[in-house]
Amino acid sequence: MSTAAIIVAAGRGTRAGGDLPKQWQVLAGKRVIDWTLDLFRAAPGIDRIVLVLHPDDLARIAPADDVLITTGGAARDASVKRGLEALEGADVNRVLIHDVARPCTPPQVIADVLAALEQAEAAAPGLAVTDALWRGQGGAVDGTLSREGLFRAQTPQGFHYAALLAAHRAHPGGAADDVEVARAAGMRVVITPGHEDNLKITTPGDLARAERILKNQGFGMDVRLGNGYDVHRFGDGDHVMLCGVRVPHGRGLVGHSDADVGMHAVTDAIYGALALGDIGRHFPPSDPQWKGAESHIFLRHAVGLAAENGFRISNIDCTLVCEYPKIGPHAVAMQAAMAAIMGLEPARVSVKATTSERLGFTGREEGIAALATATLVKP
Ligand code: MG
Repeated sequence: MSTAAIIVAAGRGTRAGGDLPKQWQVLAGKRVIDWTLDLFRAAPGIDRIVLVLHPDDLARIAPADDVLITTGGAARDASVKRGLEALEGADVNRVLIHDVARPCTPPQVIADVLAALEQAEAAAPGLAVTDALWRGQGGAVDGTLSREGLFRAQTPQGFHYAALLAAHRAHPGGAADDVEVARAAGMRVVITPGHEDNLKITTPGDLARAERILKNQGFGMDVRLGNGYDVHRFGDGDHVMLCGVRVPHGRGLVGHSDADVGMHAVTDAIYGALALGDIGRHFPPSDPQWKGAESHIFLRHAVGLAAENGFRISNIDCTLVCEYPKIGPHAVAMQAAMAAIMGLEPARVSVKATTSERLGFTGREEGIAALATATLVKP
């Protein structure tokens, strides 16, 4: 049992604007055709990919081991037939036919077609028409049509391979899509759920819309990771400040500010993700105004810099390393305190602790260390 995807890319359509056919235009940093190929490379259950190109376009794409390239005919249905014939003898049982100009197809749309093919010999995604339908003439409405039972057809359209190849060979040509060819041969085509994001790039505005959809799907998102590390030694005192919480303890932490080692590590992780230095650069210890400063000032500054640079903090993870005080009873309060300072939901802020098995300076209770990671995203 093997499944192939045939991507039909032989069209010359330039209605989307530009000098090149739409499949060769760049969308969010990548050509439309490469987005579409990568969809099927990533889709579970697709064993091989056939790309049907116009003969003039063969030089535009580098040969790839995982893509079989063939040239198309004058019309879409002729191109599909060429793609099907390229698979003869390749032990393919099922085939999905997809428009190259649909680069944003959600994986679930593909999965639903494949699942339907377990029972049916043909399946294709459709969206029920919800807008009213008019007939227009001369710029005015000339009549209203019933939308009852109407669907907008999408791709990939899936078929049992041998049946579709026979259907194409028997068809006189001129079909709008492969569903029409299949039905002409008597095949029953099951409708699977389509998706509004599965647009077909046709007009100039569609390229911008496709770019927004891809960004919403998380592609092209700028993701930054930063780490922070800090240590403060124990000195005299009756409490320590850790991640914004005052924890009673027989000793205090020594530092220029309030010595909140956890919050310093988190702050440095955010600066690190932005490649904008560290606390010492923004709040020099040589400057007396930061003496005894509450560390939320530093953290708020880092969060503000992230926002100024267009980033949102996705999550924070902080680990405190000490034998005592015990962190567990305070971890939830620490999570809430840091989340409040950063304006995040507590679920995006993790505070945890470990001992160092009595090894090293933390094991000898000479001080507390903290490590933190921050993920920043720019949509
Ligand atoms: Mg520090």
